[in-house]
Amino acid sequence: MEFVDGWVFGHTLGEGAYGEVKLVINKSTGEAVAMKMVDLVKHPDARQIVRKETAIHRMLSNPNIIQYFGKRSEPNMEYIFLEYASGGELFDRIEPDVGMPVWEAQKYFKQLISAVEYLHSRGVAHRDLKPENLLLDNNDNIKVTDFGLATIYKMQGKERCLDRRCGTLPYVAPEVLKRPYHAEPADVWSCGIILVALLAGELPWDQSSAEYPEYTAWREGKYLQFTPWKKLDNSSLSFIRKILVHLPSSRLTIREIKEHHWFLNNFSEGEGQIGNAAFKFNCTRLDYEASQVKFCLSQPELPREENLNSVNINLETREGISFSQPAHMEDLLISTQVQMLQQTQPSQQNPYQRLVRRMTRFFVTTDCESTVKRLVTCFESESYTYRICDFGIVTVSTVDRRKMPLVFKANIMEMDGKILVDFRLSKGCGLEFKRRFIKIKSKLDDIILKGPSTWPIAIATQTSS
Ligand code: AMP
Repeated sequence: MEFVDGWVFGHTLGEGAYGEVKLVINKSTGEAVAMKMVDLVKHPDARQIVRKETAIHRMLSNPNIIQYFGKRSEPNMEYIFLEYASGGELFDRIEPDVGMPVWEAQKYFKQLISAVEYLHSRGVAHRDLKPENLLLDNNDNIKVTDFGLATIYKMQGKERCLDRRCGTLPYVAPEVLKRPYHAEPADVWSCGIILVALLAGELPWDQSSAEYPEYTAWREGKYLQFTPWKKLDNSSLSFIRKILVHLPSSRLTIREIKEHHWFLNNFSEGEGQIGNAAFKFNCTRLDYEASQVKFCLSQPELPREENLNSVNINLETREGISFSQPAHMEDLLISTQVQMLQQTQPSQQNPYQRLVRRMTRFFVTTDCESTVKRLVTCFESESYTYRICDFGIVTVSTVDRRKMPLVFKANIMEMDGKILVDFRLSKGCGLEFKRRFIKIKSKLDDIILKGPSTWPIAIATQTSS
């Protein structure tokens, strides 16, 4: 289907809180753009949220932040056009309960810190930093996304304290739970938790508060025999000790992080750690205000406008921000910022379609019908609720270890005469999703096509119309 002259819809890249994110491709040049769709009928109050999110996002331009191209408003829909990150999501690179080698974690962490330093230099707090919001480009560079909970905390050197408790619980700094809080150390804290997830493949606690014994043990220094800490090398552990400090004023600042020897160290490739311990914590999205607590998962609740009284900020009148309606996709695209699709697999190319890089997929030896049957048997044995939709998509709904919803999709498609089963997270914790995927994969081992990895090839698939 042609959305705008010369541009066609590609496949669905992912699902956000208010709708799907789709690939949109220029038929003649192959330029690819991600289009976030916000269904205003289903989410009537989303218009205001989109307005704030896009007003902040459009101020930003940094190599480690997804570039905002523009938006288009229709009575029942908002479309947000973003730089396409073809490398998938960072959580996909984390081996559950193992993590990744320290040199690789350092690479991603450095890019994350660079993005957060830039955000803070623009007076923007992200407030929901987590691996699910860190996408990767074709060259494996971090691209921070999802500014749905972002806010402006500093303008013309004047800082305001933040008052809204929001974020994703395991990543939220202790002071955010108490309020008010300073934006910068709170974002730094989330970066510290991300580093733990990268190095250990698990999260240290459900919540950084006294009711959680794992957090109390950490604060009291009685943690060394526990996971994830026992998996970490001394240098990483001592660095993290200085980031995950309860008192925000004693926490490393971005500048201090950048000067720390762990950050500056040249870790050689192959240097790493392998650990194996049971995953103990889950991701819970936190978005609650005052005394009212409401929990949700990795999709944001509709945020309310924050009280901006302490600093007079009017986003509408900020220089460089307008809400003009782009008439054509061309108006949205700045050629240097738009990623060209690289023709890595010419034999398989349908230039309008690529799958984002993902490890959560495999080819099978069975035909489509038998594959669905095997999947269904597997899901039933795991007591998952599932729904088979058209076009070979099975949606699985279950709960994670903390009894919080986890929803993912298995997309069965034919490619080059073979059947590919591609799993994608819809809602919930990325690490939990990967754990489930690994279990499903082991149960289907007898029908999985062995041979060249299905990753990290960009793969062509059918055009949706
Ligand atoms: P969001 O609505 O921002 O939470 O996005 C939902 C999902 O869509 C993400 O987890 C990604 O898998 C995918 N996605 C979002 N933005 C992009 C993008 N710019 N490029 C590629 N995939 C994206």
